[in-house]
Amino acid sequence: MKDIFESLRKTRKAVFGQIVGLLGAGDVTEETWEDLEALLIQGDVGVETSLALVERLRQRAHDEGIHSAVALREALQQEVLALLPEAKPLNLDWPLAVILVVGVNGSGKTTSIAKLAHRLKDEGRSVMLVAGDTFRAAAIDQLHIWGERIGVPVVSGEEGGDPGAVVYDAVQAAKSRGVDTLIIDTAGRLHTQHNLMAELEKLRRIITTRVAWGPHETLLVLDASTGQNGLAQARKFMEAVKISGIALAKLDGSAKGGMALAIGDQLDLPIHFVGTGESLEDFATFDREAFVAGLLGA
Ligand code: GDP
Repeated sequence: MKDIFESLRKTRKAVFGQIVGLLGAGDVTEETWEDLEALLIQGDVGVETSLALVERLRQRAHDEGIHSAVALREALQQEVLALLPEAKPLNLDWPLAVILVVGVNGSGKTTSIAKLAHRLKDEGRSVMLVAGDTFRAAAIDQLHIWGERIGVPVVSGEEGGDPGAVVYDAVQAAKSRGVDTLIIDTAGRLHTQHNLMAELEKLRRIITTRVAWGPHETLLVLDASTGQNGLAQARKFMEAVKISGIALAKLDGSAKGGMALAIGDQLDLPIHFVGTGESLEDFATFDREAFVAGLLGA
């Protein structure tokens, strides 16, 4: 089982290690600021967030009389910590908690659903998975395979069928079987943004009318290796449906872990989980302190 520190190894190696090197010794010069800005941008922190971060640090250096690189590194750690989104427990304290999971195909959505189901089952919850992506037979099969491995039931319909009907049936089944947690997979891609919006809205409405205050969580799965593109994707989904939080998959396979700073700075959403590998246990609860340590050293 990999933890957050370990899964940021590639990110550290690619860019953030260079920042630590840059701020290892000596005095801060104009060149230090320029290099820092360039490295942050390279590290997928995003131009806007990088510029704002450097600006804040310059102000602090001025106000607090920071001259040494080591002191600047400490200030950077504090600012990065403040930028990162907070961890937040899932809102599952309901007789039937409904978690809608959205994200583009290939982002790690199915795997993240399986990891979450596995974890919640371990915590004593009674979980049911719902194959709400009826557009791809492979997605339905994949969910069944995971369900069998984890030992949780899966509700699915025909390929090409109505996802709304599958969700409707799943809510009925959950209620009659005393299940307390539904995790719903959704289509990762529809022909147009309009279709995506209409589909997600329809599912949301079916849930809302049948489960009090549901869906209780709408998680967006983002692939950490998409870096800044992931942010653009997130914005599209945020236009389509009210997202409550993020699962950042494949952090271990990416050098772009810096994108978490841009998520915190620009999306105002909590990150709940981080995918740290391909196995069921490779799923860490997001932790800002661990993330800062992973990026810049403790
Ligand atoms: P989906 O199309 O969004 O449902 O994506 P999948 O869940 O099928 O994942 C796509 C690929 O990414 C698969 O090969 C997964 O094993 C892999 N994957 C998913 N999450 C992680 C992760 O956290 N780390 C690593 N290394 N691979 C992952």
